[in-house]
Amino acid sequence: MVKNRTKIIATLGPNCINPKILCSMVDRGVNCFRINLSHGTQESKKSYFDLIKSSLDNNQESRPSILADLAGPKARIRKINKPIILEKGQTIVISSGEREEGVIPISKNLVFKNVEPNSKIMINDGKICLKVINQLSDYSFECEAASSGKIKNKKGVNFLGIELDVPSLTTQDEIDLKLALENGADWVALSFTRTKEDYSLVKSKMKAFGYDIPVIAKIEKWEAINNLDSIITTFDGVMVARGDLGVEIPLERVPVIQKEIISKARLFGKPSIIATQMLDTMIKDPVPTRAEVSDIANSIIDGTDALLVTGETAVGDFPEEVISVLSKVIEQTEQSISYNDKIINNDKVVSIARAISYAASTMAKDLDLNTIVTMTQSGGTARMVSSYRPSASIYAMTTMIETYRALSIIWGVIPVLVDNYNSSDEIPDLAKKKLQDMNVILSDEKFIITGGVPVNIPGTTNYISVL
Ligand code: PGA
Ligand code: MN
Repeated sequence: MVKNRTKIIATLGPNCINPKILCSMVDRGVNCFRINLSHGTQESKKSYFDLIKSSLDNNQESRPSILADLAGPKARIRKINKPIILEKGQTIVISSGEREEGVIPISKNLVFKNVEPNSKIMINDGKICLKVINQLSDYSFECEAASSGKIKNKKGVNFLGIELDVPSLTTQDEIDLKLALENGADWVALSFTRTKEDYSLVKSKMKAFGYDIPVIAKIEKWEAINNLDSIITTFDGVMVARGDLGVEIPLERVPVIQKEIISKARLFGKPSIIATQMLDTMIKDPVPTRAEVSDIANSIIDGTDALLVTGETAVGDFPEEVISVLSKVIEQTEQSISYNDKIINNDKVVSIARAISYAASTMAKDLDLNTIVTMTQSGGTARMVSSYRPSASIYAMTTMIETYRALSIIWGVIPVLVDNYNSSDEIPDLAKKKLQDMNVILSDEKFIITGGVPVNIPGTTNYISVL
């Protein structure tokens, strides 16, 4: 098993769905599989969950975690029989209403509001741009084609400067969410998150289904960039979804926004994930471009928790090699980073848990200790300690299988499942024995331990000690 501090998330798809390939991908460094719920039938989606659980799993404990990615309110070109050819300068109507000859049909029931001047509609990853001339109704626009091109079936549509009056969780998302929860999802991601209110929408649905797992906001809409702080503080993590984000805001802003999102997320103790086109050429070629390797290394240096590959493993020809490249770049790049120099406390939010997590990181540095143990129920303390990026290893010991798996995508955290314990008196021996069983400390080696007393109450980190 590869021990990356920066974690790897790989998307499942037709080109990697067999047990042998999945096992090889895990051996090469995958920590978590993403199931993209935008595609497929309910049966095919369920089969992905089943495959992860059955092929990798002699015991449920050691299987990689699963990130279930909800499609959210994505607009698409509706089914058209033949492509619509556009000439530069041509005027054309685009509409979510009833089908009409010569009108570009997009997803039904989209209602547009608050249309800013100079708004644009982008089709197929921004390859086609329509300038809005005139709003004709709540659901249609007259536009001018900014370039020539071909509009095909099902391609994605992005609206720049136009607010959509659509629910953040569609009926399809509710069905997918239920399926994901019942089949072992450890994290949920919501595509096209716009505001912090989207969090409670997902959470309340989840609780109605009888589950409570963490939710990641995918940052890929211009509205989300305007609401970044409140989204980061509210959600359990964020993903920089560079595919759609690079259409919704000018592409040249994406690298700087990526850095801003990663550092803000760390400030609030939340994990961040960088996604899309990390190794795009490896969909067809066995080797990456230099620019791709640089992008991966820079994302690691920016301090992301995890790197997410999408098409590279889902539909690419070299899913296993992709993971090897990621692992090698992570290993090489992490060696060059002096993590202890990165322990900085510019907390805006002060809490006992944050103070203790910061102290754990600085104590490890000052006392030159290699190991920090966090006894954690919710995973919160482990995430906090991780956000200071100590160079000591972080062993997150938990009795909860859900927490154990959810922590697999957090930077530098090594989740460890331990037996139930009843009193804080048991913790030192339990932790020491576990570390020795894992061969990570010598018999007389000191380590730092944090946790909460009384035990077994989540969210009560209140002690720190050197053992
Ligand atoms: P997607 O999200 O693959 O679901 O579109 C990632 C992105 O937009 O970058
Ligand atoms: Mn997207």
